[in-house]
Amino acid sequence: MKRLSILGSTGSVGRNVLRVADQFRERFSVTALTAGRNIELLAEQVMHFTPEVVVVLDEDLARQLKKMVTAERHLEILHGLDGYRAAAALNSADLVVSAMVGSAGLLPTIAAIEAGKTVALANKESLVMAGELVMDTARKKGVSIIPVDSEHSAIFQCLAGHRRQDLKQIILTASGGPLLDKSAEELDGITPEMALCHPTWKMGPKITIDSATLMNKGLEVIEAKWLFDVPLELIRVMIHPESVIHSMVVYQDGSVIAQLSSPDMRVPIAYALSYPERLPLELPLPDFVDIGSLTFREPDLEKFPCLALALEACRIGMTMPAVLSAANEAAVDAFLSHRIGLRRIGEVVEYVMAKHKPIPNPDLSDILSAADWARLTAGEGTRLPSPPTVYSLCASEPGNGGQV
Ligand code: MG
Repeated sequence: MKRLSILGSTGSVGRNVLRVADQFRERFSVTALTAGRNIELLAEQVMHFTPEVVVVLDEDLARQLKKMVTAERHLEILHGLDGYRAAAALNSADLVVSAMVGSAGLLPTIAAIEAGKTVALANKESLVMAGELVMDTARKKGVSIIPVDSEHSAIFQCLAGHRRQDLKQIILTASGGPLLDKSAEELDGITPEMALCHPTWKMGPKITIDSATLMNKGLEVIEAKWLFDVPLELIRVMIHPESVIHSMVVYQDGSVIAQLSSPDMRVPIAYALSYPERLPLELPLPDFVDIGSLTFREPDLEKFPCLALALEACRIGMTMPAVLSAANEAAVDAFLSHRIGLRRIGEVVEYVMAKHKPIPNPDLSDILSAADWARLTAGEGTRLPSPPTVYSLCASEPGNGGQV
């Protein structure tokens, strides 16, 4: 029995982790659940999965949750960053699923690694903001980090059983998002509601907007660089609208290995939960005859400047990726609340990056203060009176129901 601590259980990834855990109850039990503000769903999850520990954003939510769950059950209800860290480092957890949204996921992920827990990593910001530090800590602690994101799971699977020195290139595929074929002018008229309709993946709002701007792909490049320890030059982004190939690895002899599946998050999630075993998920295979052809194209960096900015931040390194990520969080938040247009997201990120003097060899506090500064400066850029704080972006979004 593998005991799971799920950080961000009410988000899109968290809910799908629980679907897989529920389908294979003989293999997985749930020892901790954490959420931000969505205590209604969290209460349901608590009743169903009976964890030992549950964590919410603040004390008031903790009080409310206590009233919602049956009193006789032994359940520890914690709150805030200390609570998230405690859930991440819980003695009774064998595997920590890091699926909080945004930079709020960084410190709990580090807590899990420091506690020597195997981490199934869905939170992108942990590696984007502090990739070197996170991977160094994991190496020192002998901790495995198993990717949950579909692209990184694909690369992880394509690398398995091959010699690292034979690797020539990683091809990170991108669906292109819902705005792929919109003209630059049309992008100006895009509302949050329009951008939230992703053609293939059903995900939370932050990542859906990041997919629409291609910032998500940029963040994934940075993540892949750290996760697989490859230089940026070896990572190529390719648009693949059918989303059947989830990424590919090219070897020295010209062989290309790809991982294909239906675009269902349960595939990479189940693999991360059960690695190196594969679970009988019994999902429909992609209907290749129906799909007919797989197409590929280069990403348009002019139309989607967020991808170019992310690649630039990766090239610069130091604190720049953390600044990119935090500025983007603030800008996406401003877009989702109708304070700026879609195309302003890239402009705000660029504005913040241009003002930042990257700090070499940053430690965790350098990274966190650069991110705080970036959020404030992005607020300036979006004319926000008060930018969101680091904890306001926990996996509290209700998301969009079931998974494709
Ligand atoms: Mg992805």
